[in-house]
Amino acid sequence: MAADPLTLGLYARDASIIEGGCALVVLPSSADEVQACVQVAAREGLAIVPRGSGTGLAGGAVPLGDALVIVTSRMTRVLDVRPEDRLAWVEPGVLNQDLADAVRPHGFTFAPDPSSQQASTVGGNVATNAGGPHCLLHGVTSGHVLALDLVLADGARVRLGSEGPLAPGYDLRGVVVGSEGTLGIVTAVCVRLTPLAPVVSTCLLAFPDPLAAARCVAACIAQGLVAAAMECMDQASVRAVEQYVHAGYPEDAGAVLLVELEGLAAGVAHAVAELGTIAGAHGATSMRVAADEEERGQLWKGRKHALGAVALYAPHYYLHDCVVPRTRLPELLADVYRIAAEHRLLVVNMFHAGDGNLHPLFVFDRGEEGVLERVLTASQEILERCVAAGGVVSGEHGIGLEKRDFLPLLFSAADLGAQACVRQAFDPDGRMNPHKVLPAGARCGDFAMARGDGDLAAAVRSLPAGTWI
Ligand SMILES: Cc1cc2nc3c(=O)[nH]c(=O)nc-3n(C[C@H](O)[C@H](O)[C@H](O)COP(=O)(O)OP(=O)(O)OC[C@H]3O[C@@H](n4cnc5c(N)ncnc54)[C@H](O)[C@@H]3O)c2cc1C
Repeated sequence: MAADPLTLGLYARDASIIEGGCALVVLPSSADEVQACVQVAAREGLAIVPRGSGTGLAGGAVPLGDALVIVTSRMTRVLDVRPEDRLAWVEPGVLNQDLADAVRPHGFTFAPDPSSQQASTVGGNVATNAGGPHCLLHGVTSGHVLALDLVLADGARVRLGSEGPLAPGYDLRGVVVGSEGTLGIVTAVCVRLTPLAPVVSTCLLAFPDPLAAARCVAACIAQGLVAAAMECMDQASVRAVEQYVHAGYPEDAGAVLLVELEGLAAGVAHAVAELGTIAGAHGATSMRVAADEEERGQLWKGRKHALGAVALYAPHYYLHDCVVPRTRLPELLADVYRIAAEHRLLVVNMFHAGDGNLHPLFVFDRGEEGVLERVLTASQEILERCVAAGGVVSGEHGIGLEKRDFLPLLFSAADLGAQACVRQAFDPDGRMNPHKVLPAGARCGDFAMARGDGDLAAAVRSLPAGTWI
C-alpha cells in the first residue's frame, strides 16, 4: 500500500498528457487480495481505478478525486500454458512481451503486439482491446481472449467466456474486453495462442512521401495481398528513429513502409514479389527484404521505438489515434499535415497503415504559451475529419477521459444510454473507474448530454482543475 505524496503523484498519471490525483494506491499480489481491496472500497463507498503499467494514452488509468487505485503489476504469474489446447492462463500483470516469450518455446505467440509490449500488461491490453502491427492479420486483443476472471465493484468474482470455442449465452467476455476498467478488475486471462509462422519475410519500402505509401497500402489490400503487418512512418519519424536506434531506415525517404508477410515459403515468396510489383506501380523508390533474424529485429526495433525517438524534437507529445477506411488514408494524411501547419504545430506520423489506423503525433514544449490549446484544437479538427470520412475516434488506445466527449460524434443519445445500461448492470453504484469512457450525462434509459458540443477545449476546461498538464 502506498500513500506518500511522491508515489501518489506517479500513480496520478498515465502516458497521456492528462493528470489527475489519487488518494490511495494498493498493489495486490493475488486475486484474493484484489477482492479484499474491492470489498474495503465497497464498504467505504470509494471509487476504484484499475491499473496495469500506466502506459495507456487516453487517461483510462488516471484517477480523479478520492479513488482507490488498484495496480496489478505484482500479479505476474503465467499460471498455465497448454499448447495442446492452444491456450494459456495468466495473471493480469504479466507483460505482453513476457507472455510472448513464455509461449515461444512451445511454438506459439500471443498475437496482439502493441508497440508498448515491453511495458504494458495483458490486463491493460484486455481492458483497452489493444491493437498492434500484427493485428492486421491476426485481429485485435478481443479475438485472443477466450475467458477472463473479473472482480466486480461489490467484490463478487465471476468467470466470463470459456476455454472452449462455443460458450452459450451472451458474450459477456466480449463486453468486458475494451471496457477500460469500468466493469470490474480482470484478475486472470485465458489467452488464445497463435502458432508461430513457418516463414516470415520483413520488407522495408521507401516512398517519396507518406501519401504515396498510403496509396500503396490501399492498393495492396484492394488486390488481396494478405500481409501480417503494414506500418508507415514519415520522414520525421524515420530521422528520429535513425538517431535513436540506427534501425537502417533510409533517411532521405519521404516515408517508409514496413511490411511483414508470413506463411508457407512458396506463398511468402509469391507475396513478396506481388508487393514489389504493387509498390513499384505506386512510386516506391526502393525495397529491401531483411536477410536474417538480426536485420528483421533491427527493422522492428525502429518501429517499436519510434514514439520514444521523437523526444529528439521536443520534450512533450500528444499521440492521437483514429481510424479511417484505408482508401481514405491519403486524403486524411494530407488533412493532418494541413491542420498541423494551420496551427503552427510539428506533427509526426507513424501508424498502422494496413488497418487505416492513423497516429498523428504532435510534439511540442508545453512551456510555450498557448501551445496546448493549439494542440487540442488541431486534435479536435482531425477527429472530426476522421469521423466525416467514415472513420471512428479511436482504433486502439481507447476512450478514457480523453475522448469521452467525442462519442456523440459516433453514437446517438439512445446508443449511449444503452451502453450506460450495460455499465449499470455490472456496477450499479458507478464506482468502477468513474468519469471514464461514457460522456457525463450518459444515463441508462434517460440519456442527457451535459457536454454534448464535442468541443475538446470545453471538455478540458470542465474537468477538475489541474487535470490536464
Ligand atoms: C510507446 C507506446 C506505444 C504504444 N503502442 C500501442 C499500440 O501499438 N497499440 C495499442 O493498442 N496501444 C498502444 N499503446 C497504449 C497502451 O500501451 C495500451 O493501451 C496498453 O494496452 C495499456 O496497458 P497498461 O498495462 O499500461 O494499462 P494502463 O495504462 O494501466 O490502463 C489502461 C486501461 O486499462 C484499465 N485496466 C488496466 N488493467 C486492468 C485490469 N486488470 N482490469 C480492468 N481494467 C484494467 C485501466 O483502468 C485503464 O482504463 C502504446 C503506449 C505507449 C506509451
